[in-house]
Amino acid sequence: MHEITEIYNFSPGPSMIPKKVLLQAKKEFCNWNNKNKSIMEISHRSEEFISVIQEMKKNLKILLNIPDNYEIIFSHGGARGQFSAVPMNLLNNNNIKKNQVDYVNSGYWSNCATQEAMKYCNNINIININKMKHNKIKISSMKDWNINNNSKYLHYCPNETINGIAIYEEPFFSDDIIVVGDFSSTILSQNICIKKYGIIYASSQKNIGPSGVTLIIIRKNLLKNINFYVPSILNYKILVDSNSMFNTPNTFSLYLSNLVIRWLKQLGGISKIEKKNIEKSNMLYNVIDSTDFYINNIDKCNRSRMNIPFRIVDSRLHSLFLIEAEKYRLYSLKGHSILGGIRASLYNAMPLKGVIQLTKFMKIFEKKYG
Ligand code: PMP
Repeated sequence: MHEITEIYNFSPGPSMIPKKVLLQAKKEFCNWNNKNKSIMEISHRSEEFISVIQEMKKNLKILLNIPDNYEIIFSHGGARGQFSAVPMNLLNNNNIKKNQVDYVNSGYWSNCATQEAMKYCNNINIININKMKHNKIKISSMKDWNINNNSKYLHYCPNETINGIAIYEEPFFSDDIIVVGDFSSTILSQNICIKKYGIIYASSQKNIGPSGVTLIIIRKNLLKNINFYVPSILNYKILVDSNSMFNTPNTFSLYLSNLVIRWLKQLGGISKIEKKNIEKSNMLYNVIDSTDFYINNIDKCNRSRMNIPFRIVDSRLHSLFLIEAEKYRLYSLKGHSILGGIRASLYNAMPLKGVIQLTKFMKIFEKKYG
């Protein structure tokens, strides 16, 4: 058998899963819980599988400090599914298109959510918050967001995975405003004050586990007036009442997500990982900022700790950078096709030594070609 060489995988998602978790899954792949079968071969309605769901909910509640008046749902269809589910569930039954909603645009994914919501609502107040300041993209402060007080809800994305833009300010709007956050690329990487949100959703393939699960944290009072016409599979009330088992869920992905969440808890929880994430991202930004060879065009206040896009001034060097990086065991650094350049995603499972290796390589590359 070949020895597996350790590589560092900077993929934006699906992304690295902690090695310890993969090894545990490997060990119990054919014989989970001494059942002589795999987790994929038992009923989602069995006591054993329900105990996986219960453990995951319990640990999420502890890790994220989720108040009792919130429900946790595991759903399908990724974050894109929620781009439809949110307006479908929250908008009024009677003349759904007349409802007013606020959509905050900060980059690619918040814009996709806006486009999807337009199918359900004619009255969208689009709030563009990206400004240019000294050639850097800066997000305007929440107090300057042009919010419509009659809106049913406000949707925003605190971490734009493609653009590398983060909003660290937390919502402080009046209690009447239901805030919905797409936390796909930032969930479990930093503390969140859950009670400031009506709904938080996230797809799983970054910090939660493999793809295939969507996490939804929803304030219970929002379950009261769900639009009757929402397809049952997206209906939050039905999903809560069925303990996220209205249909057969992706049991393997749920099982592996449970292992990742257990790993995070054993590591010391969110405050601990947040500190590590700050250390890792600072290390990379410091190397980018220390030279004119690499550029990141986001203002320091809005730089993502999870997804760090950067360019080489001489853009002809990008493809060579990616080829040579692999010789240093650094993978999946290609920027998203709409931006080009390079992007390093530093989710929870990326060890500090991966970032040390990347920054070492960047300095060597600059010396050679700068
Ligand atoms: N929102 C954000 C912030 C994302 O990063 C992504 C995926 N990269 C999505 C939405 C879409 O997620 P999915 O593919 O799971 O629908």
